[in-house]
Amino acid sequence: MRNFGTASFFLLLTACGPTVDTSVESPEPMEPVRWSVAIHGGAGHFDTEVLSGAEQAAYSASLSAALETGGAVLEAGGSAVDAVVATIAVMEDDSLFNAGRGAVFTAEGKHELDASIMRGQDRNCGAVTGLTGFRHPIDVARSVMTESEHVFFSGPGAAQFAGAQGAETAEPAWFDTQKAYSRYLRALERDTTIEKRGTVGCVALDSQGNLAAGTSTGGMTYKRHGRIGDSPVVGAGTWADNRTCAISATGWGEYFIRTAVAHEIHGRMLHGGANLQAAADGAIHDEMGALGGDGGIVGMDRFGNPAFSMNTPGMFRGAFKAGASPKVALFATDQLTP
Ligand code: ASP
Repeated sequence: MRNFGTASFFLLLTACGPTVDTSVESPEPMEPVRWSVAIHGGAGHFDTEVLSGAEQAAYSASLSAALETGGAVLEAGGSAVDAVVATIAVMEDDSLFNAGRGAVFTAEGKHELDASIMRGQDRNCGAVTGLTGFRHPIDVARSVMTESEHVFFSGPGAAQFAGAQGAETAEPAWFDTQKAYSRYLRALERDTTIEKRGTVGCVALDSQGNLAAGTSTGGMTYKRHGRIGDSPVVGAGTWADNRTCAISATGWGEYFIRTAVAHEIHGRMLHGGANLQAAADGAIHDEMGALGGDGGIVGMDRFGNPAFSMNTPGMFRGAFKAGASPKVALFATDQLTP
C-alpha cells in the first residue's frame, strides 16, 4: 500500500470537505485573454517543514522557467498543443520532477514512463505507457495523436512506434538520479510502493481559442512491472474539450482512474453547468478523495481562466497569461492569482 503519514488527517479534512459551489459557468470576460497556460509539477504530502527554503526556491524557479517556455510559444502564435509539448518537455528534462530525467524506479529498478496529450477542437488524443529509452514521452504521445490512426500504445509497441517516428532516444542512465534511487532503495527495503511527487502536467488556451492538456510521469516508486497509472489514461489523468475545459491530474493514479477525474470535471461543466473551480472541487473532494485517494488537478476553462484543486497539503503549480507575469505556488494554503 502507498505510504503516507498524514493520511488520516487529510481524510478527515476531505470528509468535512469544502461545500461544493454549484454556481453556473463563469461569464465570458469583458477582455478576452489572448492566451493562457498553467502547469503542475506533482501533488503530495509536503509542506514548509518537508521542503527546505532552497528546495522551495528551486521548484519555484523551475516552474517559472516551464511557464515562460509555454508562454513564448503562445505569444508567437503557436498552438496550445505546441505549448503543452514544449512546456512539458522542459519539465521532463528537469531532474526535480518525476518525468523523463528524474523519473522514479519501478520494482525492477527501471524507468517505465507514461504520457498523454489531448486537444480540445476535435478531442483527438495520444498516449504511451511503459515507454523506455525515449527522452520526451510527451513528444511521442503527440506523434501518436497526429501520426497514427490509434490513440494509445504500450511497452515495446510504444517504443517501436517512437523509433519509427524518429523520436529522440536516451540511455537508461539519462533518467537516473540519486534522489529517485534512494527512494527506490527505501521502497525495496519495505517492499511497498511509495508516493513520489513530481508528475508534470500542462493546460493551455491559444490565440485561436483552442484548448489542450498533457501529462507526463514516471508513475509511483516501486510500481510493479506493467502497472499503469492515470497519467496516460485519457479521461482519468488528461482531458481537453473546447466546449468546457482542459485538465491534467496528479496523485494516486488508481483513484483517479476509478473516478475518471479529468472527464468527471468536463461532465460536471457540460451537463451540470458548473464552473471549472466547482467542477474540479467536486471531482477531487467528493469523488476521488471520498474513495480515499489523494492528489490534485490543474485546469483551464475556454476563456483561459486557470483553476487548481487538491486534497494534499502541497501541489507544485503555476499560471501565466498574456500581458501578465508567471505566478507559482507550492502549498495548498498559498493563493495563486494569475
Ligand atoms: N498519477 C501518477 C501515477 O499514479 C503519479 C503522480 O501523479 O504522482 O502514476
